[in-house]
Amino acid sequence: MSTLAPLPYDSPATAADHEVMRAQLGREMRGVISIARRCGCGRPAVVRTSPRLEDGTPFPTSLYLTLPWLTLEISRLEATGLMAELTERVEQDSGLAAAYLGAHERYLARRAEIGDAEEVRHVSAGGMPTRVKCLHALAGQALAEGPGTNPIADEVLPMIDGVLPELLCRCDDGDGRTQDDAGALDGAADQDDAEEAR
Ligand SMILES: [Zn+2]
Repeated sequence: MSTLAPLPYDSPATAADHEVMRAQLGREMRGVISIARRCGCGRPAVVRTSPRLEDGTPFPTSLYLTLPWLTLEISRLEATGLMAELTERVEQDSGLAAAYLGAHERYLARRAEIGDAEEVRHVSAGGMPTRVKCLHALAGQALAEGPGTNPIADEVLPMIDGVLPELLCRCDDGDGRTQDDAGALDGAADQDDAEEAR
């Protein structure tokens, strides 16, 4: 089995991180292994989670986006119908399809480092390898692994201010939105829905 280089931005999850995640999601973040990427302010942005939760439930989204402002921005992009367009491109462009399949395989290899849940052994996240179903999950992988891993997320993330080349903090962004904003909760629900829909 080949060994992957360590996740470039990974760091341990502290008790304070767990509190921030609770505020970000409006519930306890389950199955936390580590923080795979942080916002410019240090808050968790992508959480690395166990493929099997404490209660035994398989949990395929092992790089889970929690950052409210970014979750909201991605939900806004999803609402434009971008995913149907991207899925069509994956179907028609064999080069893109091959790179997207590579992202899928990388996702599974990365997850295998931290455990195994046989029910989801061949299931990655976000619709990979043939469809684009949840940009939050794809963005989670791209932010954790860095550019060049997920070709779809590499196209989508530059559409959002403050994500590249560094993830800047927009946690206090205008329009009165807070960590508990409902839009963020929608995005979190998206990632879970994508799992259940499979
Ligand atoms: Zn921030």
